[in-house]
Amino acid sequence: MLNRRKGPAVRGPRAQMDRDLYKSSMQTTLKNYPNLDLIEASVQDLLLEEPSRLILDSSNENSRSKSQIRGVMIEQNGSTSELTSNAVVITTGTFLRGVLMLGHERYSGGRHLRDSEEVEPPSVGLAKTLARHDFELGRLKTGTPARIDGTTIDWDVLLPQPSEIPATPFSHLLQFKDEQPPMVAQGKVITCHQTATNEETHKLVMKYESSLPIYDGKDGSGNGPRYCPSIFKKVQRFPERTGHNCFLEPEGLKTDIVYPNGMSGPYPEDIQLLILRSMKGLEEVEIVRPGYDVEYDFVNPISLTHTMETKKIAGLYLAGQICGTTGYEEAAAQGIVAGANAGRSAISAGSKPFIIGRDEGYIGVLIDDLVTRGTSEPYRMFTSRAEYRISLRADNADLRLTQKGKDFGLVVDEERVAAVEARQHLIEDRIQKLRSFNLKVTEWASLGGKELMGGSKMSKKTGTKKTAEEILQMPHVTLRNVEEIMVTMDQQETSSEDSDSEKLTISPASVSDSVEAIVKYSSYVDRQHRDMESWRKAQGMRIPPDLTYEHKQFPTFSNEEIEKLNSVLPGTFAEASKISGVTPQSLVYLYHHVNKRNRKRDRLTKTINSQ
Ligand SMILES: Cc1cc2nc3c(=O)[nH]c(=O)nc-3n(C[C@H](O)[C@H](O)[C@H](O)COP(=O)(O)OP(=O)(O)OC[C@H]3O[C@@H](n4cnc5c(N)ncnc54)[C@H](O)[C@@H]3O)c2cc1C
Repeated sequence: MLNRRKGPAVRGPRAQMDRDLYKSSMQTTLKNYPNLDLIEASVQDLLLEEPSRLILDSSNENSRSKSQIRGVMIEQNGSTSELTSNAVVITTGTFLRGVLMLGHERYSGGRHLRDSEEVEPPSVGLAKTLARHDFELGRLKTGTPARIDGTTIDWDVLLPQPSEIPATPFSHLLQFKDEQPPMVAQGKVITCHQTATNEETHKLVMKYESSLPIYDGKDGSGNGPRYCPSIFKKVQRFPERTGHNCFLEPEGLKTDIVYPNGMSGPYPEDIQLLILRSMKGLEEVEIVRPGYDVEYDFVNPISLTHTMETKKIAGLYLAGQICGTTGYEEAAAQGIVAGANAGRSAISAGSKPFIIGRDEGYIGVLIDDLVTRGTSEPYRMFTSRAEYRISLRADNADLRLTQKGKDFGLVVDEERVAAVEARQHLIEDRIQKLRSFNLKVTEWASLGGKELMGGSKMSKKTGTKKTAEEILQMPHVTLRNVEEIMVTMDQQETSSEDSDSEKLTISPASVSDSVEAIVKYSSYVDRQHRDMESWRKAQGMRIPPDLTYEHKQFPTFSNEEIEKLNSVLPGTFAEASKISGVTPQSLVYLYHHVNKRNRKRDRLTKTINSQ
């Protein structure tokens, strides 16, 4: 679980899978999926009905102005054929006019076949068709580090990074049944290790800068992911740092191949080896496959609607890295929405779209950001991009979205729906118990410790009672802290009364995170809504043109935000909210800043006028 020690709003479950097992498990799932045929072929082009050939119908705006998808042209075993469909989703990743780069070597391709010299060919026909239909295409790049031979690593000198056991399963169903993911339950878990770059590594990284590729994007330097930079970018951007962490992640249970996370950099292979060998534990490492970069076309997602359908071609949907994003979850999130809408529209045109709101899930934030703001650099999802992040937590994903999925026909597993309902009831029941249990403030302080549950304010009002819910809302108090006291008190009372009444217990792990978060965040959730409401009303409010964006005035703003606000210099909040990368929290901060400045100016004007 990422950010385990921070609040539930920023916690995120993460798992590293055995790549072969994951692949075969997903293939089995897809092969057994009802009503799904799998065809392995290369899509050469789109089949379209151009507007001129459509029957003119003045009552239907779309029929006159748009092309309509008819299917795709595929190539299979050397022969081409047509595959017709009313809806098509393109998810070509890095394949649109992809060019792979290793040092100054450039060759066409979408990616290397795994750990092999062989290259998968790029999608050129599709790129040309999209360009012909005036889609705004841009160029992005991404990179992958070398794969290294685990038998040549000196593991003993490295810092182990063990897995969290017991693991928090991704599946709420497993969590509810209090079961562990199967591989964890079988003890098939491997430890990653940590090493780091050092000054010698950094010298090599800078010394061989001239051997790095020259890209099409950003005047030759390439337009790569800002938050997942190559080792060269890291050393260049942070010259004061004497080391950067590198996590050595074994790729599976039955392979010696290791992924050195954090070390992408498409230097020529001999330089990559020199760089890696300068690091602790890797002095004698061997490379299995050198790392490389890929530069590819993406479609500015502003050309999409919230269903991921293109505005220019009816029935054509895009999802994933082709829309300018980077990351597994980002791609999967778009795939769910594009797939659901494409599937539904293919069987009944004009049916209700499947759209997740910004306040319902990160999928909603991601898609809304993409289609309303577009992107000019690889887009990554962060919790800070969501205005309702206190409510959008991993622990309540099932409560937020299962019913919605069911209503749209996406969730058909009755067991899953029943588990959500049961969990919801259990959470409500636990909160009710916290509300109805109270003690004098002095009792809380003596049982839970003055530091944690006391405090100068409370101890003076000795007769006052507080509920367990109120105590849990205090900083640093955990659900476990209050429940342990509740259980102890309950045991004392019931044993003295010898009653048969239901005994209080500690909340099971399947609901404890949710109960704690709901109680702790209740007042913040209200404030979050008020804040959002107030700045939304201020969309037309002017931002003073002489405002300069500096960390001194805006200490919480990221470098990306400062850079983009200074370059766009938005005139209103509506304009500021359209800048990709400027988070809702920062807009609220800016709103308060401008308000304060305006009030100060008004006071000054009043004083001058009255003189
Ligand atoms: C080595 C590596 C490590 C990564 N690690 C991480 C990570 O740890 N965390 C993370 O979040 N992200 C990671 N990423 C990024 C992540 O993999 C991508 O952002 C994400 O997979 C994009 O998903 P996608 O479905 O858009 O495209 P892809 O996953 O690239 O899939 C595109 C698919 O389309 C197929 N295709 C392309 N053109 C055609 C055509 N014309 N006809 C038929 N099929 C076609 C390709 O064969 C491919 O299977 C990593 C990427 C790489 C390369």
